[in-house]
Amino acid sequence: MCLQEWRNGFDTSRMRYSVFSLAKQALRGHLDWPLAWRDPVPKKHYDVVVVGGGGHGLATAFYLAKNHGIRNVAVLEKGWIGGGNTGRNTTIIRSNYMLDANAHFYEWSLKLWEQLSQEINYNVMFSPRGVLNLAHTESQRDQYFRRGNQMLLNGIDAEWMSREEIARFVPHLDCSENTRFPVLGGLMQRRGGTARHDAVAWGYARAASDLGVDIIQNCEVQGLIREGNRIVAVDTSRGRIKAGQVGIAVAGNTGRLAAMAGLKLPIESHVLQAFVSEPLKPILNTVVTYGAGHFYISQSDKGELVMGGDLDFYPSYSQKGNLPIIEEAVSAGLQMFPILSRVRMLRHWGGIMDMTLDGSPIIAKTPIDNFYINGGWCYGGFKATPASGWVFAHTLANDAPHELNRAHSLERFETGAVIDDKGAGPTAQWH
Ligand SMILES: Cc1cc2nc3c(=O)[nH]c(=O)nc-3n(C[C@H](O)[C@H](O)[C@H](O)COP(=O)(O)OP(=O)(O)OC[C@H]3O[C@@H](n4cnc5c(N)ncnc54)[C@H](O)[C@@H]3O)c2cc1C
Repeated sequence: MCLQEWRNGFDTSRMRYSVFSLAKQALRGHLDWPLAWRDPVPKKHYDVVVVGGGGHGLATAFYLAKNHGIRNVAVLEKGWIGGGNTGRNTTIIRSNYMLDANAHFYEWSLKLWEQLSQEINYNVMFSPRGVLNLAHTESQRDQYFRRGNQMLLNGIDAEWMSREEIARFVPHLDCSENTRFPVLGGLMQRRGGTARHDAVAWGYARAASDLGVDIIQNCEVQGLIREGNRIVAVDTSRGRIKAGQVGIAVAGNTGRLAAMAGLKLPIESHVLQAFVSEPLKPILNTVVTYGAGHFYISQSDKGELVMGGDLDFYPSYSQKGNLPIIEEAVSAGLQMFPILSRVRMLRHWGGIMDMTLDGSPIIAKTPIDNFYINGGWCYGGFKATPASGWVFAHTLANDAPHELNRAHSLERFETGAVIDDKGAGPTAQWH
């Protein structure tokens, strides 16, 4: 029996993670934990093939099986699951959007985050420690008031914090009036926060696999076989697989996959970097974003400061970034937190962002009958993971959008009904 056959026969059935299973395994020296998910040989045919084993593809497969009873599903991943943007992001979760279409979608996502660990029986370490957007000018303060009021009208929590309140809440933040861009106050969403990115991919993979979904790693989709107006199969590095429906959730590679089907999308691929410091004792108990530049920071449970800034501002498929952007981001960080001036950086990396021309995602049917797109997440797709999977599964199962993603169509770029939350106009890199 080869290793693969042995693994296929391996009974991953179902040890729930709990204090009891932990105690039982501890007594056995932790020697017989089952595999978290099966590692099957690809079948010749699936009802649904989802391309991309990041959080979105895996969540889609999970909700297809759980909410719609569609279990003959494969998730095809060219590398390892969570090796794309899901495992590279700064893990900020929030629903502080102004426009209705985004506000309701991201708020549903936040609600799913709040009970996700229980739902998939995997600790995703969701930590609602709050997300605070700092305002440094009066016009920015007006803009945040407007957004906060809109959030409240949509039933989403929002709170204005004065400079004094912020100084007490984030004691190491420089709230003095002598800085170049003094803090005037900030828009706080207390239910926002962070989660452990890898755990999201692993948790959804395990839960989907339990329900019968095949998760196939090291399986690159290299071509889409089209007959008339349908995709009938996908050509992969592990052979041809027939498919009833094909959905793609490949983030920065969305344009490439769509091109295989003959579609050109309003999406550009750009590098976004993130970096972490050496581990420190707890100094920051929330997520803070800088308003006089582009910088965001939080502290992970390991103690590392997790930081990010702008895109690198040129289209690229390379998963590494340039030094000037790091310098710019770090200088913004030091204006906020001068006490960090001697902290050492541990590592940095890049991910490929799928930037749309209005800054909002596309979760939709395409003009090809059985081909669906989940992409265009720009900076913000990690927080969207649960709702994205939820509505994409609905779209695949019903061949029609869910109420929450009806506006996130492809047609909006033709009709002009764009969802431009930032008001940045049709320039992908400014979103
Ligand atoms: C540095 C950085 C910081 C970020 N910070 C945040 C943040 O704080 N908050 C937030 O909400 N979002 C953030 N994001 C965005 C967020 O990470 C992404 O939008 C989200 O993770 C996308 O998930 P996904 O599942 O769509 O993509 P991915 O996790 O990238 O998964 C797509 C998968 O598709 C696979 N794939 C590609 N082509 C093929 C092929 N031909 N065949 C098979 N598989 C293929 C890839 O290998 C990859 O694993 C950040 C992103 C980066 C890079």
